[in-house]
Amino acid sequence: MEPLDALRKAGVIAAKVRDTVVQEIEPGVKVLDICDRAEDLIRELGGGMAFPTNVDINSVAAHYVSPVDDVTLVPERALVKLDVGVHVEGYIADTAATACLDPSLSYLVEAAEAGLDAAIKTIRPGIRASDVGAAIEQAIKARGAKPIRNLTGHKLARYVVHAGASIPNVAGHDHHLIQEGDVYAIEPFAVPNDADGLVTDGPPSNIYRILKKHSLKGAAKRMMKHIQAEHRTLPFASRWVLRRFPGQEGVSAFRELLDSKCIMSYPQLVERTRAMVAQAEHSVIVMDGGCEVTTA
Ligand code: MN
Ligand code: MN
Repeated sequence: MEPLDALRKAGVIAAKVRDTVVQEIEPGVKVLDICDRAEDLIRELGGGMAFPTNVDINSVAAHYVSPVDDVTLVPERALVKLDVGVHVEGYIADTAATACLDPSLSYLVEAAEAGLDAAIKTIRPGIRASDVGAAIEQAIKARGAKPIRNLTGHKLARYVVHAGASIPNVAGHDHHLIQEGDVYAIEPFAVPNDADGLVTDGPPSNIYRILKKHSLKGAAKRMMKHIQAEHRTLPFASRWVLRRFPGQEGVSAFRELLDSKCIMSYPQLVERTRAMVAQAEHSVIVMDGGCEVTTA
Protein backbone atom coordinates (compact mmCIF):
# COMPACT_ATOMS: atom_id res chain seq x y z
CA MET A 1 0.00 0.00 0.00
CA GLU A 2 1.18 3.55 -0.72
CA PRO A 3 2.17 5.44 2.45
CA LEU A 4 -0.61 8.03 1.97
CA ASP A 5 -3.23 5.31 1.56
CA ALA A 6 -1.98 3.50 4.65
CA LEU A 7 -2.04 6.74 6.68
CA ARG A 8 -5.60 7.42 5.51
CA LYS A 9 -6.78 3.89 6.24
CA ALA A 10 -5.27 4.03 9.75
CA GLY A 11 -7.00 7.38 10.25
CA VAL A 12 -10.43 6.11 9.22
CA ILE A 13 -10.13 3.12 11.58
CA ALA A 14 -8.88 5.22 14.50
CA ALA A 15 -11.66 7.79 14.08
CA LYS A 16 -14.34 5.12 13.93
CA VAL A 17 -13.04 3.37 17.05
CA ARG A 18 -12.70 6.69 18.93
CA ASP A 19 -16.22 7.82 18.06
CA THR A 20 -17.81 4.44 18.81
CA VAL A 21 -16.08 3.74 22.11
CA VAL A 22 -16.08 7.25 23.61
CA GLN A 23 -19.89 7.11 23.54
CA GLU A 24 -19.87 3.92 25.59
CA ILE A 25 -17.97 5.50 28.48
CA GLU A 26 -20.32 5.87 31.45
CA PRO A 27 -20.01 5.74 35.23
CA GLY A 28 -19.58 2.14 36.41
CA VAL A 29 -18.09 0.79 33.16
CA LYS A 30 -14.88 -1.22 33.60
CA VAL A 31 -11.79 0.53 32.21
CA LEU A 32 -10.46 -2.88 31.15
CA ASP A 33 -13.57 -3.43 29.02
CA ILE A 34 -13.07 -0.03 27.34
CA CYS A 35 -9.46 -0.91 26.44
CA ASP A 36 -10.40 -4.38 25.16
CA ARG A 37 -13.39 -3.07 23.23
CA ALA A 38 -11.33 -0.42 21.42
CA GLU A 39 -8.54 -2.86 20.61
CA ASP A 40 -10.93 -5.60 19.41
CA LEU A 41 -12.57 -3.05 17.10
CA ILE A 42 -9.20 -1.91 15.72
CA ARG A 43 -8.38 -5.52 14.82
CA GLU A 44 -11.84 -6.16 13.36
CA LEU A 45 -11.49 -3.11 11.12
CA GLY A 46 -8.14 -4.33 9.81
CA GLY A 47 -5.74 -2.16 11.81
CA GLY A 48 -2.83 -2.91 14.07
CA MET A 49 -2.19 -1.34 17.45
CA ALA A 50 0.21 1.62 17.27
CA PHE A 51 0.11 1.75 21.09
CA PRO A 52 -2.20 0.43 23.82
CA THR A 53 -5.56 2.24 24.13
CA ASN A 54 -5.23 4.86 26.89
CA VAL A 55 -8.15 5.57 29.23
CA ASP A 56 -7.14 8.55 31.35
CA ILE A 57 -9.47 9.59 34.14
CA ASN A 58 -9.71 13.12 35.63
CA SER A 59 -6.23 14.47 36.55
CA VAL A 60 -4.43 11.67 34.70
CA ALA A 61 -3.56 13.38 31.41
CA ALA A 62 -1.97 10.44 29.60
CA HIS A 63 -0.67 6.87 29.68
CA TYR A 64 -3.17 4.97 31.81
CA VAL A 65 -3.65 1.52 30.31
CA SER A 66 -5.43 -1.38 32.02
CA PRO A 67 -3.28 -4.14 33.46
CA VAL A 68 -4.55 -7.67 32.77
CA ASP A 69 -6.50 -7.85 36.07
CA ASP A 70 -7.76 -4.23 36.20
CA VAL A 71 -10.93 -3.75 38.28
CA THR A 72 -11.02 0.07 37.95
CA LEU A 73 -14.46 1.48 37.16
CA VAL A 74 -15.25 4.81 35.51
CA PRO A 75 -16.32 7.07 38.41
CA GLU A 76 -19.26 9.49 38.53
CA ARG A 77 -18.73 13.04 37.23
CA ALA A 78 -15.45 12.18 35.50
CA LEU A 79 -13.52 13.50 32.54
CA VAL A 80 -12.33 10.42 30.64
CA LYS A 81 -9.83 10.74 27.80
CA LEU A 82 -9.89 7.91 25.24
CA ASP A 83 -6.66 7.89 23.21
CA VAL A 84 -6.45 5.44 20.33
CA GLY A 85 -3.45 4.47 18.19
CA VAL A 86 -3.81 2.51 14.95
CA HIS A 87 -1.23 1.51 12.38
CA VAL A 88 -1.54 0.10 8.88
CA GLU A 89 1.76 -1.33 7.66
CA GLY A 90 3.46 0.86 10.28
CA TYR A 91 1.76 4.10 9.21
CA ILE A 92 0.17 5.60 12.31
CA ALA A 93 -3.02 7.44 13.27
CA ASP A 94 -3.16 8.83 16.82
CA THR A 95 -6.41 10.40 18.00
CA ALA A 96 -8.22 11.17 21.24
CA ALA A 97 -11.54 12.47 22.53
CA THR A 98 -12.86 13.22 26.01
CA ALA A 99 -16.05 11.78 27.51
CA CYS A 100 -17.51 14.46 29.78
CA LEU A 101 -19.62 12.96 32.59
CA ASP A 102 -20.00 16.29 34.43
CA PRO A 103 -21.72 19.11 32.51
CA SER A 104 -19.90 21.75 34.58
CA LEU A 105 -16.62 20.57 32.99
CA SER A 106 -17.77 20.64 29.37
CA TYR A 107 -15.98 23.98 28.85
CA LEU A 108 -12.67 22.12 29.26
CA VAL A 109 -13.57 19.67 26.49
CA GLU A 110 -14.69 22.57 24.28
CA ALA A 111 -11.43 24.41 25.02
CA ALA A 112 -9.28 21.41 24.06
CA GLU A 113 -11.32 20.94 20.87
CA ALA A 114 -11.10 24.65 20.04
CA GLY A 115 -7.33 24.47 20.51
CA LEU A 116 -7.18 21.53 18.11
CA ASP A 117 -9.38 23.29 15.52
CA ALA A 118 -7.17 26.39 15.72
CA ALA A 119 -4.03 24.29 15.20
CA ILE A 120 -5.53 22.53 12.19
CA LYS A 121 -6.45 25.89 10.64
CA THR A 122 -2.95 27.25 11.31
CA ILE A 123 -0.58 24.43 10.37
CA ARG A 124 0.89 24.53 6.86
CA PRO A 125 4.31 24.18 5.21
CA GLY A 126 6.75 26.92 6.21
CA ILE A 127 5.09 27.91 9.48
CA ARG A 128 6.93 27.59 12.80
CA ALA A 129 5.79 25.03 15.37
CA SER A 130 5.60 27.87 17.92
CA ASP A 131 3.00 29.64 15.75
CA VAL A 132 0.80 26.54 15.93
CA GLY A 133 1.34 26.48 19.71
CA ALA A 134 0.34 30.14 19.96
CA ALA A 135 -2.90 29.44 18.09
CA ILE A 136 -3.69 26.55 20.46
CA GLU A 137 -2.94 28.62 23.57
CA GLN A 138 -5.05 31.54 22.41
CA ALA A 139 -8.07 29.34 21.56
CA ILE A 140 -7.94 27.52 24.92
CA LYS A 141 -7.57 30.75 26.91
CA ALA A 142 -10.49 32.30 25.00
CA ARG A 143 -12.69 29.60 26.58
CA GLY A 144 -11.64 30.34 30.14
CA ALA A 145 -9.17 27.45 30.45
CA LYS A 146 -5.44 26.96 30.14
CA PRO A 147 -3.26 24.51 28.21
CA ILE A 148 -0.89 21.97 29.76
CA ARG A 149 2.44 23.42 28.66
CA ASN A 150 4.71 20.41 29.10
CA LEU A 151 2.70 18.06 26.89
CA THR A 152 3.03 18.41 23.12
CA GLY A 153 1.92 17.02 19.82
CA HIS A 154 4.54 15.02 17.99
CA LYS A 155 5.77 13.96 14.60
CA LEU A 156 4.73 10.48 13.47
CA ALA A 157 7.00 8.22 11.43
CA ARG A 158 6.66 4.65 10.22
CA TYR A 159 6.52 2.40 13.33
CA VAL A 160 7.55 5.41 15.47
CA VAL A 161 4.94 7.24 17.57
CA HIS A 162 7.21 10.02 18.85
CA ALA A 163 9.51 10.83 15.96
CA GLY A 164 11.40 13.80 17.41
CA ALA A 165 9.80 17.10 16.43
CA SER A 166 7.01 18.52 18.62
CA ILE A 167 3.95 20.72 18.24
CA PRO A 168 3.76 22.76 21.46
CA ASN A 169 0.45 23.65 23.09
CA VAL A 170 1.66 27.14 24.00
CA ALA A 171 3.51 30.00 22.30
CA GLY A 172 7.26 29.74 22.88
CA HIS A 173 10.64 28.99 21.46
CA ASP A 174 10.07 25.91 19.30
CA HIS A 175 10.88 27.58 16.00
CA HIS A 176 11.35 24.48 13.84
CA LEU A 177 9.59 24.79 10.51
CA ILE A 178 6.69 22.56 9.52
CA GLN A 179 7.33 20.91 6.16
CA GLU A 180 5.10 19.56 3.42
CA GLY A 181 4.61 15.81 3.82
CA ASP A 182 5.25 15.85 7.58
CA VAL A 183 2.79 13.80 9.61
CA TYR A 184 1.93 15.13 13.07
CA ALA A 185 -0.34 14.25 15.94
CA ILE A 186 -1.67 17.48 17.45
CA GLU A 187 -3.01 17.16 20.99
CA PRO A 188 -4.02 20.09 23.17
CA PHE A 189 -4.89 19.47 26.82
CA ALA A 190 -7.05 21.95 28.77
CA VAL A 191 -7.24 22.47 32.55
CA PRO A 192 -9.03 25.04 34.72
CA ASN A 193 -7.37 28.43 35.08
CA ASP A 194 -6.39 27.87 38.72
CA ALA A 195 -4.46 24.66 37.85
CA ASP A 196 -0.70 24.55 37.28
CA GLY A 197 -1.01 23.36 33.69
CA LEU A 198 1.91 20.97 34.13
CA VAL A 199 2.13 17.20 34.28
CA THR A 200 4.53 15.17 36.40
CA ASP A 201 5.37 11.48 36.37
CA GLY A 202 2.84 9.34 38.22
CA PRO A 203 2.69 5.57 38.84
CA PRO A 204 3.74 3.06 36.15
CA SER A 205 1.39 2.99 33.15
CA ASN A 206 1.36 -0.65 32.06
CA ILE A 207 2.73 0.63 28.74
CA TYR A 208 6.15 -0.76 27.80
CA ARG A 209 8.73 -0.56 25.09
CA ILE A 210 11.81 -2.55 24.12
CA LEU A 211 15.09 -1.09 25.41
CA LYS A 212 17.66 -3.64 24.25
CA LYS A 213 18.11 -7.33 23.71
CA HIS A 214 20.20 -9.20 26.26
CA SER A 215 20.92 -12.90 26.21
CA LEU A 216 17.86 -14.62 27.60
CA LYS A 217 16.70 -18.16 28.13
CA GLY A 218 13.47 -20.15 28.25
CA ALA A 219 10.15 -18.34 28.55
CA ALA A 220 11.78 -14.89 28.75
CA LYS A 221 13.59 -15.53 25.46
CA ARG A 222 10.37 -16.69 23.78
CA MET A 223 8.49 -13.69 25.19
CA MET A 224 11.11 -11.23 23.93
CA LYS A 225 11.02 -12.83 20.47
CA HIS A 226 7.24 -12.52 20.43
CA ILE A 227 7.35 -8.83 21.46
CA GLN A 228 9.92 -7.99 18.79
CA ALA A 229 7.99 -9.76 16.05
CA GLU A 230 4.60 -8.39 17.10
CA HIS A 231 5.34 -4.79 18.17
CA ARG A 232 8.75 -3.86 16.71
CA THR A 233 9.52 -0.29 17.89
CA LEU A 234 5.91 0.40 18.99
CA PRO A 235 4.79 0.59 22.63
CA PHE A 236 2.82 -2.39 23.92
CA ALA A 237 0.66 -3.38 26.90
CA SER A 238 1.69 -5.92 29.54
CA ARG A 239 -1.90 -7.21 29.23
CA TRP A 240 -1.32 -8.23 25.59
CA VAL A 241 1.84 -10.14 26.40
CA LEU A 242 0.50 -11.82 29.55
CA ARG A 243 -2.53 -13.12 27.65
CA ARG A 244 -0.17 -14.76 25.14
CA PHE A 245 1.96 -16.19 27.97
CA PRO A 246 -0.62 -17.00 30.65
CA GLY A 247 0.02 -18.20 34.19
CA GLN A 248 2.91 -17.81 36.59
CA GLU A 249 5.51 -18.63 33.91
CA GLY A 250 4.39 -15.58 31.91
CA VAL A 251 4.39 -13.30 34.95
CA SER A 252 7.92 -14.44 35.88
CA ALA A 253 9.22 -14.04 32.31
CA PHE A 254 7.77 -10.54 32.06
CA ARG A 255 9.38 -9.63 35.40
CA GLU A 256 12.71 -10.96 34.08
CA LEU A 257 12.49 -8.74 30.97
CA LEU A 258 11.84 -5.71 33.17
CA ASP A 259 14.56 -6.52 35.73
CA SER A 260 17.15 -7.13 33.01
CA LYS A 261 16.14 -3.83 31.34
CA CYS A 262 15.20 -5.52 28.06
CA ILE A 263 11.94 -3.57 28.35
CA MET A 264 10.95 -0.42 30.25
CA SER A 265 7.67 1.01 31.46
CA TYR A 266 6.37 4.52 30.84
CA PRO A 267 4.99 6.50 33.78
CA GLN A 268 1.45 7.86 33.86
CA LEU A 269 1.42 11.63 33.36
CA VAL A 270 -0.61 13.38 36.05
CA GLU A 271 -1.52 17.07 36.37
CA ARG A 272 0.62 18.43 39.19
CA THR A 273 -2.23 20.17 41.04
CA ARG A 274 -4.52 17.16 40.43
CA ALA A 275 -6.74 19.31 38.22
CA MET A 276 -9.31 17.91 35.82
CA VAL A 277 -7.83 17.46 32.31
CA ALA A 278 -9.56 17.38 28.91
CA GLN A 279 -7.81 16.34 25.67
CA ALA A 280 -8.51 16.42 21.95
CA GLU A 281 -6.22 14.93 19.31
CA HIS A 282 -6.07 14.43 15.56
CA SER A 283 -3.37 13.23 13.20
CA VAL A 284 -2.64 15.38 10.15
CA ILE A 285 -0.62 15.21 6.96
CA VAL A 286 0.88 18.62 6.14
CA MET A 287 -0.11 19.51 2.59
CA ASP A 288 0.46 22.51 0.33
CA GLY A 289 -1.34 25.44 1.97
CA GLY A 290 -2.65 23.50 4.98
CA CYS A 291 -3.19 19.94 6.15
CA GLU A 292 -5.33 16.86 5.71
CA VAL A 293 -6.80 15.49 8.93
CA THR A 294 -6.60 11.69 8.70
CA THR A 295 -8.67 11.06 11.83
CA ALA A 296 -11.60 13.44 11.15
MN1 MN B 1 -2.77 10.02 21.46
MN1 MN C 1 -0.23 11.59 20.55
